[in-house]
Amino acid sequence: MLIDLHTHTSFSPDSDEPMKNMIERAIELNLDAYAITDHCEADRFFSRDNYKRPQTDHEYDIYNYNIVYENSVSAICKAKELYPKLNLLCGIEWGQALYDMKATEIMCNDKRLDFVIGSLHELEDMPDFAFIDYSQFDIDNLLRKYFEEIARLCEKPVFDTLAHLTYTLRYIEGEQKIKVDMNRYKDIIAQAFKSLAYNGRALEINTSGLRQGYGKTFPTLDFIKLFKEMGGEIITIGSDSHRACDIGKGIAEGIEIAKQAGFRYCAYFKERKPNFIKL
Ligand SMILES: [Zn+2]
Ligand SMILES: [Zn+2]
Repeated sequence: MLIDLHTHTSFSPDSDEPMKNMIERAIELNLDAYAITDHCEADRFFSRDNYKRPQTDHEYDIYNYNIVYENSVSAICKAKELYPKLNLLCGIEWGQALYDMKATEIMCNDKRLDFVIGSLHELEDMPDFAFIDYSQFDIDNLLRKYFEEIARLCEKPVFDTLAHLTYTLRYIEGEQKIKVDMNRYKDIIAQAFKSLAYNGRALEINTSGLRQGYGKTFPTLDFIKLFKEMGGEIITIGSDSHRACDIGKGIAEGIEIAKQAGFRYCAYFKERKPNFIKL
């Protein structure tokens, strides 16, 4: 059994891989379910003049994600017709849902979507976590804000699965080698998990960290266990690959972690509803 529910194509600004190559690789791997989930940042959905964030020279400080969104979703719908044998799911990675509710409402009403990944890549009025020099920041304060925002997202989730929780550690621990005591945030994370579970939403095991300096999944086993303790029942697994050659990577490890945390099933979403696969 192999699934991959978090992948990007060249419609995402940070990928160069044509959708065709991604799909052909998914077929080659004989995936039971395969989701394409290109980036769409809700707080950058419209043109720059709709937002107050100061302009920077970062290459991903871009707007008009509505164009990325429409191009990706319509291309996936066409691909579904072209590759009827593949269990291809029309997904989107929806960033910062609460920062532009007008954009989020457009996404929520889009019946073409099978699957929505909810993520948080930046805090309001701050650069993307990828572009912060953490040595200049109060990391404890920043992480507390990050998890508080995650908890807020989980209270009224507009998504199916919560993406790569603890993803900030990719940069703080993985790249800038600053050690973080995660026990400090356990209570607020538990609160977020409680809301996720109550709302019947999933938690993602994101295996991209296994391929990076971080060397672990987002989040790690102890937090997947905590999700279960808080009543969580649905797990999704994704590689977050931006290249065809990374599809399916780490999924076997992700399944092992889900099992160790006590999950007997993982899920994929079709028409926004979970379908369970026995592990
Ligand atoms: Zn992401
Ligand atoms: Zn992603």
